[in-house]
Amino acid sequence: MPSIAENIGQIEKGLKQETRLIAVTKTKPEEVLLEAYEAGCKRFGENKVQEMTAKYEALPKDIEWHMIGHLQTNKVKYMAPYVALVQSVDSFKLLKEINKEAVKNQRVIDCLLQIFIAQEETKFGLSEEEAVEILTAPALKTLKNVRILGLMGMASNTEEEQVIRNEFRGLKALFESFKKYNNEQISMQALSMGMSADYTIAMEEGSTLVRVGSAIFGSR
Ligand SMILES: *Cc1c(COP(=O)(O)O)cnc(C)c1O
Repeated sequence: MPSIAENIGQIEKGLKQETRLIAVTKTKPEEVLLEAYEAGCKRFGENKVQEMTAKYEALPKDIEWHMIGHLQTNKVKYMAPYVALVQSVDSFKLLKEINKEAVKNQRVIDCLLQIFIAQEETKFGLSEEEAVEILTAPALKTLKNVRILGLMGMASNTEEEQVIRNEFRGLKALFESFKKYNNEQISMQALSMGMSADYTIAMEEGSTLVRVGSAIFGSR
């Protein structure tokens, strides 16, 4: 079996210039993260605040922590001091809470809106209309400690490449069309799409952040 370092090297080699790798480390113990860190990977994605915070506390401080899981508002405070990018914003209420905790920490927290693009009903995310509502909400202007830097989405869990490709293509088109909302707080520059099974397709369709777990660390 190839090592974690070899897997990371292999994936990095295939990335486009505009694409960054987020190693998805959920459920993996700290020594495994350290192995990835020593292989040069310093962007980690986690889906639970408590787990991410424990790892943040134990590991080197130059790691970028990305929240990629569904968030409860009462957990936001634990990650507010250090989180690099909250990729899974799926309500205005959550954005308000992130802003509140960002104010307390005297920082600006960067966020992505998670858009629902899959066929399954189980995946979280906003519809296009709901995303537009957030981007155009007059109250957004009062949330000065959050910035919306782009969109995140998960494609359907299917073997049908064309289905996946169309979902990513749709998200890319939405991302481009949302650039019309760019202002002091909104700057559409990051498009997070692609996981172990589909990141190559995602990259071809314009992804700037791929979130890869099992292809680096093995199955969970
Ligand atoms: C777990 C997870 C990933 C990584 O999945 P793999 O198939 O292991 O690469 C990517 N994005 C999100 C939102 C996840 O929850």
